[in-house]
This record gives sequence, structure tokens and C-alpha cells, in this order.
Amino acid sequence: YLYKPWQMKKTTTTCNYCGDGCQMHLETKDTEVVRVTSPLSWKNKWGDRTETAKGHGGLCVRGRFGFQYIDSEQRLRQPLVRTGETLTDTPWLDTMQTVIDRLSDIHRKHGPESIAGLITARCTNEELYLFQKLMRAGLRTNQLDSSARYGHLNYVHAVRQAVGVGRPLNDWEDLTKAKAILVIGSNITETNPLTAVRIKEAIRVYRSQVIVVDSANTNIAQLASHPLLVKPGSESFLIDGLVKSVIEQDLVDEATTARHPQAFAALKEAMAQVSLDHISAQTGISAEQIREVAAIFAEAPRAIALCAEGIVRQPNGYHNVLKLIDLAWVTGKLGQPGSGVTTVTEEVNEQGAVDMGVAPEFLPGQARFDDPSARERFGKAWDVTLPASASGANFLEILARIRNGQIKALYVIGENPLATLPASMDVKGTLEKLQLLIVQDPFLTETGKMAHVVLPAATYAEKEGTFTNLEGKVLRVRQAVDQVGESLPDWHIMTALANGLGYDWTYESPQDVQNEIMKLLPGYYNLGQPRRVSPSADAYLSNGYAAEVASRYRNHTAQSTPNDGTQPFTLLTGQVLYHSGKMSTRASGLINIEPNNGRIRMNPADVERLGLNEQSTIRLTSRQGSVQAGVKADPDIQPGSCFFPEHFNEPAVKDLMIVDVDAVTGVPYFKSTRVKIEKVGA
Ligand code: SF4
Repeated sequence: YLYKPWQMKKTTTTCNYCGDGCQMHLETKDTEVVRVTSPLSWKNKWGDRTETAKGHGGLCVRGRFGFQYIDSEQRLRQPLVRTGETLTDTPWLDTMQTVIDRLSDIHRKHGPESIAGLITARCTNEELYLFQKLMRAGLRTNQLDSSARYGHLNYVHAVRQAVGVGRPLNDWEDLTKAKAILVIGSNITETNPLTAVRIKEAIRVYRSQVIVVDSANTNIAQLASHPLLVKPGSESFLIDGLVKSVIEQDLVDEATTARHPQAFAALKEAMAQVSLDHISAQTGISAEQIREVAAIFAEAPRAIALCAEGIVRQPNGYHNVLKLIDLAWVTGKLGQPGSGVTTVTEEVNEQGAVDMGVAPEFLPGQARFDDPSARERFGKAWDVTLPASASGANFLEILARIRNGQIKALYVIGENPLATLPASMDVKGTLEKLQLLIVQDPFLTETGKMAHVVLPAATYAEKEGTFTNLEGKVLRVRQAVDQVGESLPDWHIMTALANGLGYDWTYESPQDVQNEIMKLLPGYYNLGQPRRVSPSADAYLSNGYAAEVASRYRNHTAQSTPNDGTQPFTLLTGQVLYHSGKMSTRASGLINIEPNNGRIRMNPADVERLGLNEQSTIRLTSRQGSVQAGVKADPDIQPGSCFFPEHFNEPAVKDLMIVDVDAVTGVPYFKSTRVKIEKVGA
């Protein structure tokens, strides 16, 4: 390093990559982040690790080396306003006046239902709260959403349905001490590495039994006591098999099921339709293995099912989480300390986005928007009448309303739907219909290039606030460096916009916003403490469960697109160490580690069978079209399937997907399809 340690300032903050929310030191010299280190791990006199050493002194490669995007040359330094085809540097005051005039004009002419907003779950809690307040109390629209819609909301809705509170039921301590852990649909070592460390600790120190269900031979599968390599897209069947085996082998927790005999009878009846032989054929896992792991989960004194993108982002994600809850319930693991069904998230503040009410169905604190008393309470606090609940729209509904001409202005903070959603959604054609597209982002994204106005936003290193991690802990974000160029924190821009629109907001800092949140959600800022819930499914099991349980065991399919033989490969896309690439593609430290990540990973046997090598170019063809890509042989991928990491936007593999939408939660599914693979070069 160029500097001595004493020449650098050390700021303790929270990593903003994944939902683990590790504590880190940003070490800075003047305006530059020089390096990232982690707070040292130490034990207190009782032998417990201290809270400040969350992560046990560890950071993954993203947290440690992925910081260069903060002062990247590509950062937006100035607001941009469109004149004709060009986006032109414009002073802040003029830019804000343009936004205020055009937004007010649309609002006046077409009403609140002509305006909508979308925000990233990488913003702080305070910013997420302000965003929904600006939309609801200011612009009076309930057409708003966040990136938690891409999957985490399936988990939230399912857990809320079952136990009344939509948040992860377990923390790292529970994971480490669990005697059995079922990891399903999660390449956790890459997506949430420090949570994976807890599972590895459980294996090595506590000799826990770890069952990994995945279609790839992931790192955690290689360490697991019981790796189950299932056929791509068949995780849902495997859960059915586990529930069936528990009942069939009489491993149910009788004290638990006896409290709800009707619910248990309904589950048993639903299971009568399920055949282990059929499940075995669908998943590629023998009935014997299914019985064995079901017994391990049921008989463990503490057991946790951890699900992630392979469950919540795949078709029927909501129902799949409910099935895992069934498994936990019948084995007596729901509501028992140290056991439960939990999840991990890609973006650091997905839980915060839901808790702050950035979804048409939720007000802050996950109060239902369609609950008149909740609407009245928040309306009173904000001194407004909130919009009618039927007027709300989630992101896919917002796109539909843009297409039908109802929505004319869209405010996008930190999201890039043009690069995220497949071509079949025609996001470009849809956004072109808008009279006003405002994009607020640290970078000029694909969506930003289409905008009428682009507002330069600060990164997490340049602002104060909090994130809520996947354990439900609220963690401090501290400013380490000045904002780059003329960029500003999102809370600051939204406050200026609200005041320009005449809403008289008096926030001078994120602390002022926190004070307001604390009044509305007492106890939310119990900093650093896990927001534990005492899950009780009694109400759920007594009301409606018996009537609905059969449907979730009937409705699942192995894959969204049937295999008619013309597209022999199952293509999956998903997260790896570098996640979606929103920040990581701008972090030179990460690009240096793996510059060539945008290749299709295939099993070496398939590579050889098709006469390919790592210099080959292939064409992938689905029902949606074709793209060309490079190839990477990867023994961890099963023959007959292939995988594309969602890191780089190119090649546009996502465009091969169709989008299914979850009927209950509105979560869009576009992570798998069937393809034909042909060699086209080298
Ligand atoms: Fe950051 Fe997640 Fe890595 Fe922790 S595990 S350092 S939060 S990316």
C-alpha cells in the first residue's frame, strides 16, 4: 500500500453486497478508499464473539476486494437532462426544477395513478422509508416496488402466512448450533459466503448433519454429509418427498400435530397423492435416500431448512417455502428455538425494503396496505389520506400499466430493469412509452441511458443510515468518504424533490428519518440485535390451512418449460460470487480475479460430446430466440444442464427466458428454460 496505517482513516460500516451484512472497515486517505479490512474477531470473558466482530473477522472476496466501484471513473458526477437524443450535463437546481415541473404537470393532468416508482434494496432503511412515503403520502400513488420482488417476497409472504411475521426465522448462531441443516437451492458459499462459514463451522465443530439439495455439485454440497444432486428444477418434488417420508415413516412430532388434528389430516390426505417412486423419477434421488435424509431432519433436536434462489426464484417459489414450513411443522421444528425455515438474500437490504413498506401490499412494519386501520394509522402520522388499496401495483403490474398508457412517469432508484428482465418483457419498448423516466443511480445504466433525467446518487460509502441483514439485525452504515462529483445520497435527493413538490419535509439528516421511523415502528432500531420472532403457526393451522394445503402439492411442475426433445439442455441462470454485476462489474479487484465470467458452464462430458472446447462459441436456442456464448467446462454442472452466471449482461442469456409470474406474490420467474446447443465457431 502507498500509505502507512496511521495515515488512513478507518470507518466501521456494513458491507453492501449481500444480505449477510458483514461489518467492515473502509480505510481511506482523503477521498479515496484505499483498502477494506474487517474488525478483528475477539471473544469476551464468557467466550462469546463480540457483536462488532460480526463475520468473525472475516470478509469474502466481494467485501474485501470489490470496493473500487466507489470511485470508479464510470461514476456519474453530474445530473443529466435529455435534449433530443442526448443527455446533457445540467446543474442540480435546473435539473430538479425540470423534474418538479414535469412530474407536477403529469400529476395535475393525469392524477396520482399516472406515477410509479421502483427502488433497489441496496438503499438504506431510511431511504427506503422516504421513497414509499414520497410515493404514498406525497404523490398519493401505491404503485411502487423494490428488488425484493425478484424472490425474497416469496419467502416473506410464505413465512408471514404461516407464522405472521415475514422475516428470517433463524440467525447465524442458530445455524452454527443446528444438528441438521437442509440447504436447498442455494450455492451459499458463493452467494452468501459468511453464512456459509457458519454452516461449515456447524459441520466441522459441531458435527452437524448437512443435507444439500441442488442441481449442481456446489462447494457446500461437497462438504455436506448428505449431498443430493437433483435434476434441474426438481427441488420442489424433493420437498414433497421429504414431507411424505416423514409421515410414512411415522417421524412426525405427535405433540405438535395433535394440537391441529384437522390440519394434519389434510396434510396426510394431500400426501396420499404423492408417490415416492414418482418423486424419485423426477428428482433422480432414490426413495431410500429421501427416507434417510427425512429421518435425519425429523430426528435432529434442532434442524433448520435454509432455502434461497433455487427455491424462491423458481416457479412456485411461494408454495415451495410453504412446503418447507410444512416439513418443519410436522417434525416439530416450527416455533422451536434454534430450528425453523430461513433464507439468505442477494442484496443487503431486501429485508429492510419489505420492513420499510416498499411494496404495494405492505406499509412500514409489514402492516397490510389493504388493512383500513393500518392505512388510517399511517395516513394520520403523515397527515394525508392514503390511496385506495385496489390502486396498488407491483413492478410487473407497473410495466403493464405503462404499456396500457395509465402510468406516464416512472422514478427508478438504483434499479436497472432493462438489463434485468428478459427481452420477452419488452422493457425497452415499455419504457419508451413514458412521458417521464427519472433514473437515480451512481452509474449510467442501460435504463439510465433511456431516461429523460438522470440524477447522480452516492454509494453506501458516502452516506449514513442502516441496513437490515438476513438475520433481521439493523446495522449501521457510516460515511467514509465525500460524495463523488456532485452526486448526493438518495435520501437527500428525495427530500429536495419532496420539498420542490410542496410537501414540506424537514429532514436534515438520516437521523431525522430514523426518529420518525422509531415513532412508527418502536423497537425497530434495536441496533445489532437479531429481531427474533416467536413463530407460532397456530392461527394459520387453525384457519384455512386444511382447505388450501392440497393445492400446493398438486400445482408444482418440474420446470417452467416442458422438454419436448428439441431443446435437450436445461439452462439455469443464477448468482455466483459476483452476483448480478450491478456493482461488481465496476470493481476492478473482482474483474481482475475472474475477467471472463460470461461463459456458459457445461459438464465436461457434454463439452466433449458436442465437440467443444473452451475456445468454442456455441449458439443456445430456446423458444424465445438465440444467443451466442463462450463455453467453460465445469464438472460441478450435471450432464444435460448448463449454467450462466448472472454477472455480466453480455451475452444476453436472460433473453432466452420467458417470464412466469407467481399468482400469489407477483414474483417473476425467469431463471430457467430449455435450450438447444450448437457449435458455431472454433
Ligand atoms: Fe459482504 Fe456478503 Fe461478503 Fe459479507 S459475505 S463481505 S456482506 S459480500
